Amino acid sequence: MKHDSNLPWYRQLHWQVLLAMVLGAVTGVVFGEPAAARLGWIGDLFMQLLRMIIVPLVLASIISGVASVGGGRALGRLFSKTLGYYLLSSLLAASVGLMMVNLIRPGVGANMVGAASSELPELETANSPVELLLDIVPENFVQAAATGDMLAIIFFCIVFGAAITTLPDKTRVVLTDLFDAFLQAMMALTSGIIKFLPIGVFALITRMVATTGFESFQALAMYALTIGSGVTFHLVVTLPVLLIVLAKISPRIHFANMREPLLIAFSTSSSGATLPVTMSVVEEKVGVSNKVASFVLPMGATVNMDGTAVFECVGALFIAQVLGFDLTLMQQAIVVLTALLASIGAAAVPSAGLVVIFIVLEAIGLRGPAVNVIVGSMLAIDRPLDMYRTAVNVFSDSCGAAIVARSEGETEVDTEVR
Ligand code: ASP
Repeated sequence: MKHDSNLPWYRQLHWQVLLAMVLGAVTGVVFGEPAAARLGWIGDLFMQLLRMIIVPLVLASIISGVASVGGGRALGRLFSKTLGYYLLSSLLAASVGLMMVNLIRPGVGANMVGAASSELPELETANSPVELLLDIVPENFVQAAATGDMLAIIFFCIVFGAAITTLPDKTRVVLTDLFDAFLQAMMALTSGIIKFLPIGVFALITRMVATTGFESFQALAMYALTIGSGVTFHLVVTLPVLLIVLAKISPRIHFANMREPLLIAFSTSSSGATLPVTMSVVEEKVGVSNKVASFVLPMGATVNMDGTAVFECVGALFIAQVLGFDLTLMQQAIVVLTALLASIGAAAVPSAGLVVIFIVLEAIGLRGPAVNVIVGSMLAIDRPLDMYRTAVNVFSDSCGAAIVARSEGETEVDTEVR
C-alpha cells in the first residue's frame, strides 16, 4: 500500500472508508431493506476477494517469514516471544472482562427467558484443550488449505519453513527466493484489491444498518455496555501499558499508524479479512520488518483475539447472572481460562466469538433451552459488538508485532506517525 499521508484528505484511504461508512449508514436508514437487497452482493463480492487471498497470503508469508528467520535458536526465540505475548495479552483481556462483569453486573435480576431467539450459525470448534491441540496438526494439508483451517495451515507452514532453514545453501536459497517472490506477488494483489475497499465498506454498512432491527432489552443494553467498557479498557489501558512497559513504544504513535486496519477490522468484523491490510500497514507504517511481521501477524489473526476474550468472559458470566447462578471463585477462574481458550479457537470471521461461547458455558455446566434463548438474543445485537472486538483483536496483534520487533533490536518501529 502506498503512503498516502501527503495526498488531500479525500484521497486518503481511511477517510474514504470513514465516509463510505457514514454514507452506507445513511443509505441503510433512508432506503431500508430494498437497498440491502440491491447492494448486498457488492459487500459479499468484496469479502470474497479478501477471503480469496487469505490462504495463499498466509502460506507465502509464514513460509518466507520462518525461512528467513534462520533455523534453530532464532526461530525458537521469536516463537516463544510471540506466544508469550499472545497468552499474556489474552489472559489480561479475559481478566478485564471478569472485572467489568462483576462491577456492572449486567445480568443480575434480568428476566430474559422468553426473549426472541435467533438461529445460531453452525461452526465446528474444539471441545477440549486436547482436541484443540489435535486440530492444529492437519491430517491432510491440501484439505486444510481447501477448507481454510487456519491453525492447521499455520502449523504446516511453520514446520515447512523451519525445514527449509535446515537445507544445504543451494536448495535453501532456491526455495526462499521462490516464496519471497510469491509473497511479493500476493502483496501486490492485496494492494490492488484494497483500492476497492470504500465501495465494499459502503455496501456492507448499508446492508447492516438496513437489516438489523434495534429491538432493545434493558439487560441486553447493559450487557452491551459491559462488553463495550471491557473492550475499551483493554484498548486504552491494558494494551498501551504493555506497549510502554514491554517496548517503550508511544501508544499514541502506534494507534495513529494503525488507523486503516482498525477501521477495516471495524467494518468487516473479520480479523482474517483484515489481515492483508494489517500486514502491509505494520510493515510500511509501523515499521516492523517482514521477518517479524510475517511471523507474528498471521498467527495472531488466528489465535490472538483479545476483544473476543473479553467478550467470552463477559458473555458467559452474563448468562450465569441472568439465570441466577452465583459462581464460586474457582468457577470464575475456569471461565477466565476457557474464555482464553475459546478466543484462541474462534475463527477470524464475523460472529465466530458468539459460537465458541458454548465452550465456556460447557466448562461451568451451563446448558439447556434457557441458555440457548439468551445466546439467541445476544446474537441479535452481536454485530456492533463484533465490529468493536474485532478492531481490538487486530490492535493487539499489531502491538505484539511492534513489541516483538523492538525486542529483536528493530529501533525504527513506531518512532513517528507515518
Ligand atoms: N469477528 C472476530 C474476528 O474476526 C471474532 C469474533 O467473533 O470474536 O476477530
